[in-house]
Amino acid sequence: MSANSVTCSINSIEYYNQDTRRILLDVPPENDISFRAGQYLQMVLPHKKCPFSIANSPHLKNQIELHIRPTPDSEDSTAIEELLDNAREIEIEAPLGDCFMTSPPDNTLILVAASTGITQMKSIIEYLEPDGFKHPVHLYWGVVCDRDLYLASLCESWESKHSNFHFVPVVSEPDTSPNWAGRTGLVGVEALNDFEDVSDVTVYVSGGPGMVYATLDAFVERGMPQAGMHSDIFSFAPRPKS
Ligand SMILES: Cc1cc2nc3c(=O)[nH]c(=O)nc-3n(C[C@H](O)[C@H](O)[C@H](O)COP(=O)(O)OP(=O)(O)OC[C@H]3O[C@@H](n4cnc5c(N)ncnc54)[C@H](O)[C@@H]3O)c2cc1C
Repeated sequence: MSANSVTCSINSIEYYNQDTRRILLDVPPENDISFRAGQYLQMVLPHKKCPFSIANSPHLKNQIELHIRPTPDSEDSTAIEELLDNAREIEIEAPLGDCFMTSPPDNTLILVAASTGITQMKSIIEYLEPDGFKHPVHLYWGVVCDRDLYLASLCESWESKHSNFHFVPVVSEPDTSPNWAGRTGLVGVEALNDFEDVSDVTVYVSGGPGMVYATLDAFVERGMPQAGMHSDIFSFAPRPKS
């Protein structure tokens, strides 16, 4: 399905923590932006379009949830923050992206998210959850410091409801989090360390290009077929051919 350009009204904006905001958009009923779990949209700014993963499941009709975290020293990010502070409506283009899920995988699912990359995984998990998790689902969420784990209680609630769902938060700079007693390190490396055999797994990865390609290389080196991993970055920021 090709992307539609739609003007959505802003239903609500709330802060999750010190910097990440949850934005709920109402899609006008006459507009069809049927999306799939894991897809993203582009927010249209006067000078460019910025991609944001849709955080809710497609089950929820005519509403879109976004989680937006400002990037320090970024003009685009400043423009987005100003828009969110002042606008009542936002123009979007959706749905976009070929990294989505249309049916549960028939093997172990490993979801690896960096920072706000958790949004894409939330959409996928909420899409799968009503039918339960037949095969194990492992969610790894990497953040710089423990304050960034703004959805920890939701992830923990999935874990306590489903014996097949496992949540592993990973802090990359533990010096910033003196009370953190959980896992530390790079999220892709920590995820891989937990699996002896990755020859038959389905992996979704969200984050910046450096993290995504490092995770791909590490999994492939350990025996995962390249086609086992999915990420928006593969089409959004293709690796230059060497
Ligand atoms: C497909 C895609 C989905 C994105 N979804 C979100 C989102 O849900 N919430 C959000 O705050 N930002 C998201 N981003 C980043 C967002 O588009 C930029 O932060 C924004 O456009 C401002 O641009 P920038 O140049 O300042 O940041 P960039 O330099 O483009 O990115 C800044 C931050 O965004 C992170 N980021 C990059 N790619 C992704 C990704 N695929 N998913 C999540 N984070 C990513 C990076 O790790 C980095 O920390 C997404 C980016 C892409 C490519």
